[in-house]
Amino acid sequence: MTENAGETVRETYGFACLSCGHGWEQTYRIEHRADPHGRPFVSYHEDGRQVPSPLTHPVCRNCGGHRVRVVRPDLVAAARRAASWPGARTFPPPA
Ligand SMILES: [Zn+2]
Repeated sequence: MTENAGETVRETYGFACLSCGHGWEQTYRIEHRADPHGRPFVSYHEDGRQVPSPLTHPVCRNCGGHRVRVVRPDLVAAARRAASWPGARTFPPPA
């Protein structure tokens, strides 16, 4: 009998509250598994606790509001690169 352990990844999401302007990041452990009927599902874990999907139920940690914008981790990284290279569109940077 084979148990499908699925795949576990860690991903960091950035959040920005549209109500109060608070911004933060959180890393989640994301488990990709299949239910007994073979349908795939994803569960999110934060500090060892299972939490609702931050992508569908984001809550502001500062004001508790639900008008929260979620930024994918690759976009967070892209924003960081853009911020650290002001005005530069050169890639790779000149040696
Ligand atoms: Zn807020």
